[in-house]
Amino acid sequence: MTELSASAPVSTPQPGAAEYPGLDAWRDLPVVQQPTWQDSKVYESSLAELSALPPLVFAGEVDVLRGRLAEAAEGRAFLLQGGDCAETFEGATADKISARVRTILQMAVVLTYGASLPVIKMGRMAGQFAKPRSSNDETRDGVTLPAYRGDMVNGFDFTPETRGHDASRLVRAYHTSASTLNLIRAFTQGGFADLRLVHHWNKGFTANPAHSRYESLAREIDRAVRFMDACGADFEALKRVEFFASHEALVLDYERALTRIDSRTGLPYDTSGHFLWIGERTRQIDGAHVDFLSRVRNPIGVKLGPTSTADDALRLIDKLDPEREPGRLTFITRMGAGNIREKLPPLVEKVTASGAKVLWVTDPMHGNTVTSPNGYKTRNFDDVIDEVRGFFEVHKGLGTFPGGMHMEMTGDDVAECLGGADPIDQEAFLDRYESVCDPRLNHMQSLEMAFLVAGALSKRS
Ligand code: PEP
Ligand code: MN
Repeated sequence: MTELSASAPVSTPQPGAAEYPGLDAWRDLPVVQQPTWQDSKVYESSLAELSALPPLVFAGEVDVLRGRLAEAAEGRAFLLQGGDCAETFEGATADKISARVRTILQMAVVLTYGASLPVIKMGRMAGQFAKPRSSNDETRDGVTLPAYRGDMVNGFDFTPETRGHDASRLVRAYHTSASTLNLIRAFTQGGFADLRLVHHWNKGFTANPAHSRYESLAREIDRAVRFMDACGADFEALKRVEFFASHEALVLDYERALTRIDSRTGLPYDTSGHFLWIGERTRQIDGAHVDFLSRVRNPIGVKLGPTSTADDALRLIDKLDPEREPGRLTFITRMGAGNIREKLPPLVEKVTASGAKVLWVTDPMHGNTVTSPNGYKTRNFDDVIDEVRGFFEVHKGLGTFPGGMHMEMTGDDVAECLGGADPIDQEAFLDRYESVCDPRLNHMQSLEMAFLVAGALSKRS
């Protein structure tokens, strides 16, 4: 785990923020990866504004999700969590959001049909605007500027103006999340996600091997749906899907300002997203991130990289899930294809022996990042697949449940990860590499991955 020196902690509780004992305890703890805002007046006014804005998600939805994740932890559902490494303000267009939602719906249908298991659909969307960085600076042609930390903090353009940390971006992140979430809600509740449109979700994507495989699966689903229709089955339930929003809870001022006390339960919920995770770089047991997230009711994820010990995992459980509440805690392992078969078993064994029940999810992306010979940050599709296979093998061997998958993916036809059935090579990066942060699976690679995991899930027992 990379440790950065703590940036100056933010001193005062926010004006207008919801009060609840302990919600500001993180301010006295070591905190890493926080912005150093350039203008304190803009900072104060942005937080006051955020504290007064309506919640983005509702406590009742968060509670429903906790229940769904509890099912996955028991092996009765599977979590599919996907989206950009870093969303951008500019990228929050109807076309791009729709393509990502459709891709997740397609993957979910492949998984549900192939594995006969309910799939919990969750975007790394509507809030994934802040990035931890291993270096504070970036140097290009002898010029050094602050590293890009996500659109919530600064801009990607390599100029001193854009790279400064501008707190007004916090408010823009909120509004961009709100409009993204609004479109997601319209898509998933307004008829577009109706299972009878299963073919329609494929429209507009370039034809490729995974595309035709999806078409034949969609035909089978169509037949089954027509059969059930003829039998007089009630299709209300197939018209809508539940879709949850998640992001890394990195900029604690933002998360704190969007925390609200639920009038029904009297408890704090971080209403910036349904599910929040703590990254590999911010999971220090005595640090600010773990403390803050221990105090909100949302289901919480923690990324566990190859240096994680079983002791780290047990201490995180004690701190984040002291009541051992079903669905509360998810461990998202990102070990790397070469490590997963060796590093994951001791963690799973000791956690299981402790009696705690967590949801185990694989992130096959972050342990498999390499630089291509022509200088792009990339991942080999074969390594990604190999880590997923290793994850399934380990859980099968230990009799535990491989409960979900966390991916960086997009619905667009980008070229960022190498390989796949219609292989992407490094020359394609020159024209179609769009990510401002980590490389994502494109539409075809995402569908291919879904078919693979559906196969592994159906054979799991
Ligand atoms: C991420 O999810 O984009 C990320 C930075 O992951 P990790 O914390 O696992 O490195
Ligand atoms: Mn990433």
